[in-house]
Amino acid sequence: MVKYTYKEFKTTLNKLKFPDSWFWSRYTLNTYSGCAHACIYCDARSQRYYLDNFENEVIIKTDFDKKLDQRLKRARTLLPDVIAPGGVNDAYQPIEKKIEHTRKVFQVIAKHKFPINIATKSKLVTRDIDILKQIASETWCAVGFSITTTNQKLAKFLEPYSSSPSERFEALRLIKKEAPEIHVGTYFIPIIPFLEDDDENLEDVFKKTKQAGADFILISPGLTMRDQQAEYFIKKLKNSDYKYVVKPLLNLYKVEMHPPSGYYTKMHSKLYDLAQKYQLPLRINRWIPKDFRQYNYKISEILLNREYLDHITTGKSNNTLKWAGLKLNNLKESIINIYKNGIIYELEGFYKKEIELIVPYLEKIEKKTNLDKFL
Ligand code: SF4
Repeated sequence: MVKYTYKEFKTTLNKLKFPDSWFWSRYTLNTYSGCAHACIYCDARSQRYYLDNFENEVIIKTDFDKKLDQRLKRARTLLPDVIAPGGVNDAYQPIEKKIEHTRKVFQVIAKHKFPINIATKSKLVTRDIDILKQIASETWCAVGFSITTTNQKLAKFLEPYSSSPSERFEALRLIKKEAPEIHVGTYFIPIIPFLEDDDENLEDVFKKTKQAGADFILISPGLTMRDQQAEYFIKKLKNSDYKYVVKPLLNLYKVEMHPPSGYYTKMHSKLYDLAQKYQLPLRINRWIPKDFRQYNYKISEILLNREYLDHITTGKSNNTLKWAGLKLNNLKESIINIYKNGIIYELEGFYKKEIELIVPYLEKIEKKTNLDKFL
């Protein structure tokens, strides 16, 4: 039995130092604390979140919509950027159906014209298509359904109180049908070794994602196994029909809280091939603001996408490329002006190698070449 309590919280919006290069979010926001979906692998159980009893006691943040409204109204320096609701909670967990707490918050986000990227395991998100459609047409909206298996029995064991995978695919299909301007897709995250990483499941998730009309699929093989979260997960497995995976799982994680690099190389190769086969992008088309940040964000998107795809196809990370892409987001003026004024090499915080990666795109823009050709 979940206990629900109301509590005042001071903070409504958290700003990230750099945008998240997967979800393109710059702000995070949690309408609830705790999550009654109670997925047995959830990272919220680890010590780093200090969330005691996170699945049995859910806190509803009092007057969150009003406080957010005030925050966005007063913040002259707060530039609109992508808000990601939910970190270690689902904005559409069961209580939301009754109290419409998240819905009211999303109305405020729509009012202030901020873009949004929602990750959920609930079909309830379809209730708010009207608001999400408005956000999508005025700025940008993405909805990603977290789906990691198409096996209903396994899903029920791993994510006991979420909508079933088939309901999530159906919700995805419905959103795409009723509001094609919303970017929809699957967050195939995490893909749990020995339970969900078999060829049949990988193929089925891609196939059903495609059939539902998705625009993207984001992938993340392996599960982080951290302190209490790992203990809880292993305990649940030991008492289940899936106890046979405990031994190989512990063996795979015997050195670190992640599988070894060879596991990722193998999995990325399979997942990349499936993305090609089903013609599903492994990235979401980013929201591009219409102000001075326009080209900063566009070039950043190109560089970060390139780094990601190189990484999953070669197994090697390119930190120079990544930092060039990330730092572009924090410039206080357009990179085009800086370039035209001949001071690109004086750019504070940028190293020569990073600038050399950006310059070819600036030259293309000068020659009025469409940057999409370089994606
Ligand atoms: S829906 Fe997300 S936050 Fe909620 S329990 Fe599951 S994994 Fe954790």
